[in-house]
Parts: sequence; structure tokens; C-alpha cells
Amino acid sequence: MTLTEADLPRVRGKLSFGAPLAPYTWFRVGGPADALFLPTDEDDLASFLSQLDLSIPVTVLGIGSNVIVRDGGIEGVVIRLAGRGFGAVEVKGTQIMAGAAVPDAMVARKAAEAGIVGLEFFSGVPGAIGGALRMNAGCYGAETKDVVTEIRAVTRVGERVTLTNAQMGYSYRHSEAPTDMIFTSAVFEGEAGDPDEISAAIEALQARRGDTQPIREKTGGSTFANPDPPGTPDQRSSWKLIDAADCRGLRVGGAQVSELHCNFLINTGEATASDLEALGELVRARVRETSDVDLRWEIRRIGRIRA
Ligand SMILES: Cc1cc2nc3c(=O)[nH]c(=O)nc-3n(C[C@H](O)[C@H](O)[C@H](O)COP(=O)(O)OP(=O)(O)OC[C@H]3O[C@@H](n4cnc5c(N)ncnc54)[C@H](O)[C@@H]3O)c2cc1C
Repeated sequence: MTLTEADLPRVRGKLSFGAPLAPYTWFRVGGPADALFLPTDEDDLASFLSQLDLSIPVTVLGIGSNVIVRDGGIEGVVIRLAGRGFGAVEVKGTQIMAGAAVPDAMVARKAAEAGIVGLEFFSGVPGAIGGALRMNAGCYGAETKDVVTEIRAVTRVGERVTLTNAQMGYSYRHSEAPTDMIFTSAVFEGEAGDPDEISAAIEALQARRGDTQPIREKTGGSTFANPDPPGTPDQRSSWKLIDAADCRGLRVGGAQVSELHCNFLINTGEATASDLEALGELVRARVRETSDVDLRWEIRRIGRIRA
């Protein structure tokens, strides 16, 4: 689809055409967006969506730590919430309100400073709040659904809505909220605690992560969700199934299964999105053969295979 300024509503934020997306993703792969929109704030976003022709597809991106953008790029408009209008963080008692563009780790830090217990797990998730709300992000036994109480969003037609935790239809790394809904901010609730103890818990969590995950590589975190419902003890973790299928270190082109954590795929330098996706499918096939389990992709693969 070729889009020009004439096809799109006027905005206050930034619009660009044929915009490269690889720099906006952790994997650093993928083709361009037909159009990329960086809204200034929620008003700009709602006004744009209310006037945007319904035949134009819309895709939202956060920090890009859980996506493979395919080599053919993304059709229609990609919306990336990055501006200051989505970057507020406010503490009220044991509640914390955060905009969709706020890094999860910052929410964990602000909660610690304010003596709010329960949000430490956010320090282990390298995304932003919008992505956490969509993915029900979590780690080490805690997840977004445990702490979120209210979510603000804008629908595909530009309507502003507020959702409750129950309306998000959360399950493991998944939300049933409409896929074209864009989350703009949320309120999280913890319990009162001691700031020093919370900060120490965050430090311990980050040290553990650094030792067990390739966090400095071009990666997308856990590639496959853990089987749900879990099977036998050996089938409860995707990494165990992948290890049993002898996939550690496996390569396709420039894509490799991490030696450190075999549920992580890595772009070793020159990988394409198609290398990464083919490697993921090879792992799935091997696990199916060895353990008869069908792994579900946790990483979102978005866009056209070829332009
Ligand atoms: C090294 C590494 C470690 C990781 N460890 C963990 C972990 O321990 N636990 C965990 O849960 N995840 C982990 N991840 C995955 C990832 O960080 C999370 O899924 C994160 O929540 C994604 O947020 P993001 O802003 O990067 O979203 P993106 O990757 O940009 O997008 C992910 C999905 O969310 C949607 N989305 C993004 N923003 C919005 C919005 N504002 N409104 C609606 N939908 C939106 C996108 O459309 C897409 O479907 C890890 C990733 C890496 C690279």
C-alpha cells in the first residue's frame, strides 16, 4: 500500500512514510512501515484514529522487545507511543499511574522509591507499559494482571475507553482485549513496604536475569510461551522441551538459538526476519517430534513476508 500525507488525517505528532522499523525493535530486523505515526499525546492519537479511513490497517508498537517485524515491512500505519504525552508516572499512596511509553523498569523503580511492594517484577521486563498490558508481561512468579486495576485505551475509531482488570481477559502472556485497541496508560496497585527492601529485591532480580538470559543480545525474550495447561514436569517449561530436542545453538542464516537460554533466539549480526522465523519453526518441529508438544509463539510476528 502506498500512503502519502494526503491519505492521512492531519496530526500534531510526527508522520513519516516508508519508515524503517528495524531500529525500533530489539531484534533489529524487518522492513519499513508504509507510514509511521508518533502521536504527541492521547488527544492527537484519538483525533487521528477517529478520522483515519477504516480500510487502512493500524499496528501499534511499544519498545519492540517482543516482536519480529517481517522483512516485507508493515502495511498501513504503524503507531509508536513514544512521546512525552505517554510518559507520565504518578504515585498516590500504594497506587502508581503510568503512561504507555514508560519503561516497565522505571515503574518498578518509582514504586520502590515510594515504598510500594508488588511491582518489582517489572524491573525484569525490558518493554514499556503498553506492551506489558497487551502481553500480560511478568517474570519470576508475578505478572501484570496481579497489579493492574484500571487501563485507559483508544479504540480503532478514536473512542476513549477505560477497562477493568477483568475486562482485559488475561491469561499467561495474553490478553483478550480487542487487538486494535491502543492502551495509553494504566493504574497499578501494590502494598505498603520498605523502600530499601524493595530496592534490594529489584537488584537481586536483575542480577539473576543477567546470569541466565542473553539480555545484551539482539533478541526478543522468550520465543515460546510455556505450555498451558502444563503437561508432565519435563513439559512445563518451553526451554526444557527445546533442550530435549537438542536445539541449543541451532542456526538458520544469521539467526541462532541462544546457548545461554535456549528459549531465546538471537540475531548474531546479519539475520533477517525470515531467518529468525524459520529457526523458530524448525525448533517447533523438532519439539513436536521429540515431545509431541506444539509450542505457541510468544513473540509477535507482524507484517508482510515480502514486499
Ligand atoms: C532480553 C529480553 C527479556 C525479556 N524478558 C521478559 C520477561 O521476563 N517477561 C516477559 O513477560 N517478557 C519478557 N520479554 C518480552 C517483552 O519485554 C515483553 O513482552 C514486553 O511487555 C513487550 O513490551 P514492548 O513495549 O517492547 O512491546 P512490543 O514488543 O513493541 O509489542 C508487543 C505487543 O504488544 C502490543 N503493544 C505494544 N504497545 C501497545 C499499546 N500501547 N497498546 C496496545 N498494544 C500494544 C504490540 O502490538 C505487540 O503485539 C523480554 C524481552 C527481551 C528482549
